[in-house]
Amino acid sequence: MASPVSDERADALRARYHAAFADPDLPVPVEAIAEDLLGLRVGEREDLAVSGMLLPRERQIWLNAGDVAPRRRFTLAHELGHWVCQHLEGKTAPVYCRSADIQPEPSVVDKALEREANVFAAELLMPEPKVREEFREAGSLADLAIRFGVSATAMHWRLYSFDLVAEGPA
Ligand SMILES: [Zn+2]
Repeated sequence: MASPVSDERADALRARYHAAFADPDLPVPVEAIAEDLLGLRVGEREDLAVSGMLLPRERQIWLNAGDVAPRRRFTLAHELGHWVCQHLEGKTAPVYCRSADIQPEPSVVDKALEREANVFAAELLMPEPKVREEFREAGSLADLAIRFGVSATAMHWRLYSFDLVAEGPA
């Protein structure tokens, strides 16, 4: 079952990918998971009014080309959350996600479906056992964020949610 900070469907998806493709564990190959495992097409557009969108019938995900790379990765993982947790459960409408909907800190987003996609994204990109293992070896938060291919803020929230650091991001 989904708890506030984890979603086992994300773990199952990542495990399926690694069973089929011999990629390194980190950073989690989220684009290949979308394209090679799930058969979705991932594109980027300059003119997007939102951060990300999922067009389920077309099997397309569009990302805002203006966002920095770690942010686009989180957005892509978030759209995969909409695909796995909602589309595959029968919701077929397109999903348009504003920047404010896509947040690594679950409690700041009050829309349930967006929150579910955020928890899925954090779990997909920053699985707890890997986070704990890498945390012991990383020199700094910045190093850790680079290893996982996420923003320092997203990494910080993840560490905080596992009680690995005392304070959340300011
Ligand atoms: Zn969303």
